[in-house]
Amino acid sequence: MNKIQCEYCGQAFSSVQAMTANRCYRHPMGPNKGPHKPYEGSEKSRYTCKYCGQQFPSIQSMTSNRCHRHPNGSNKGPHAPML
Ligand SMILES: [Zn+2]
Ligand SMILES: [Zn+2]
Repeated sequence: MNKIQCEYCGQAFSSVQAMTANRCYRHPMGPNKGPHKPYEGSEKSRYTCKYCGQQFPSIQSMTSNRCHRHPNGSNKGPHAPML
């Protein structure tokens, strides 16, 4: 069975239920302001940011960096994985 990753922080869970029962420390509204969000894309060896096109080896490494093309403004938020 494939693990499910959070789109915001990259943490992996065995089910959507287990994931959304926990709050995400990288939630866009602020740390722990909402649940993890299941990433709907498939597992990849490289993830591409949907805003700037930069590639990262994992969702975790992607979302720990700010994106210079974030829709809220330059470096106002993290990169976000494309599906
Ligand atoms: Zn998360
Ligand atoms: Zn980006």
